[in-house]
Amino acid sequence: MSIPTYEIYALKYAGPFTRPASMMVWFQDLDKTVQTDYFIFAIRGGGETVVVDCGVRPDLAAERGLAGYVNPVEVLKRIGIDAGKLKHLVVTHIHFDHASGIRLFPKANIYVQEKEFRFWIKDPIAKRAPFLHVSDLGANQYLKKLEGSKRLHLIRGDKKILPGIELLLAPGHTPGMQAVAVNTAKGRAIVGSDVAHFFISYRNDIPSAIITDLRAWMKTYDKLRAKASSIDLMFPGHDPAMLQNYPTVAEEVVRLV
Ligand SMILES: [Zn+2]
Repeated sequence: MSIPTYEIYALKYAGPFTRPASMMVWFQDLDKTVQTDYFIFAIRGGGETVVVDCGVRPDLAAERGLAGYVNPVEVLKRIGIDAGKLKHLVVTHIHFDHASGIRLFPKANIYVQEKEFRFWIKDPIAKRAPFLHVSDLGANQYLKKLEGSKRLHLIRGDKKILPGIELLLAPGHTPGMQAVAVNTAKGRAIVGSDVAHFFISYRNDIPSAIITDLRAWMKTYDKLRAKASSIDLMFPGHDPAMLQNYPTVAEEVVRLV
């Protein structure tokens, strides 16, 4: 049986936000600002749907005053995905803007790297200020309760979850970050989430400034670059250029490939 090809969608659920450019690309343009958006991703093909990251739950979005926020459930509906019935949810890393909405997917198998889970859920360091700042403790609590259940898949390293869809351990931004390699009509693509915030990190070999291990990031970059069929098939986590440069299929939803 041949391996299916998949389509990849980027769905904006919040933004725009104005941020220092030096936060998005390591110590570049210290005097400039840039616009950034928050996204979730969907992979569809071969009769399957995989959602990558879950956005922010509505109550936390209100608490944090997130500009331009739309409930991820509503955003997914725009392309006919029912969050309540979704079977496969990949959490790339346990930052609030990627993991907070986890309870919006009550039936999903959740795929998260064991290393990532262990850090954010078990390591007291994760309770310290710089890490707390990017955490949703409600989501972490939810994940903790799922430990040992069939729904929570703690992944060790690289793993195929469906034919043509492989999780790749990709540390650097966080201790156990993962990216997703996807078989597409154009070749193998990488849904990198925050491995890179903007496309420019892949092009110029420089990460964002939100990094726990810079040396690990450089190795991750080489690993993902070697996996991707082309650098044009490596997709970042927060670049508004995704909305501008790819075909729109629904309100603030684009098809990347
Ligand atoms: Zn992020």
